[in-house]
Amino acid sequence: MKNHILVKLTPAYAIILVFLFLCAFLGDKAVTVMTEDAEPSDRVCIIIDAGHGGVDTGATSCTGVMESNINLEIALRLNDLLQLMGHKTKMIRTTDESIYTEGSTTIAAKKISDLKNRVQIVNEADNALLVSIHQNHFPVDKYRGAQVFYNRIGESEALAKLLQNNFVATLNPGSIRKAKKADGVYLMQNIQTTGILIECGFLSNPEEESLLRNAGYQKKLCCVIAATLSSFLKENAMT
Ligand SMILES: [Zn+2]
Repeated sequence: MKNHILVKLTPAYAIILVFLFLCAFLGDKAVTVMTEDAEPSDRVCIIIDAGHGGVDTGATSCTGVMESNINLEIALRLNDLLQLMGHKTKMIRTTDESIYTEGSTTIAAKKISDLKNRVQIVNEADNALLVSIHQNHFPVDKYRGAQVFYNRIGESEALAKLLQNNFVATLNPGSIRKAKKADGVYLMQNIQTTGILIECGFLSNPEEESLLRNAGYQKKLCCVIAATLSSFLKENAMT
């Protein structure tokens, strides 16, 4: 009986312990860790995509904050944390910018070019695993909680389900949200590798919006994501 309880609680405890350790370790500012240039090419490269940026601001929160900025803050923290844990990473953007090709004139053309270039960055990387960071929004303000979406390639579904479970076990107790297929999302449909898209929470819910803008909560989100990615790569004999 004792062992049964122990086994049942271990994954959640593991996440929480890593989470507490990392939160205690990291200060108010995100930590930047340099990695060595010489990386074996067979290592998994976690590509972190801060959704939107520049001319494409994404959703607007209930207090007027742009989704693109919150995505970038979380993506930068996640990148620092994963590097600190020894993972190989690459960020699609590190500033408030669109990744469109010169010559795109209209906003619509810039948005299309931006998405195509994001796909190209992922598809040109060796052993890439995409983590795309977004925030949700809905006309009704009662909805809340993180939700993970996956493409139809590789281990995406298993990774998304593991992360969804870990969000529920830590930050979103009682949430009934399930991991879902990212059908209809251009980036997710066109990359040729394992990929998940994380809607970290709802910018339309005042309480959750306040959390999503908070540095401490952003660190907690990143701890859950990084700990999940790390254990997932280890379990699948990937590094
Ligand atoms: Zn978005």
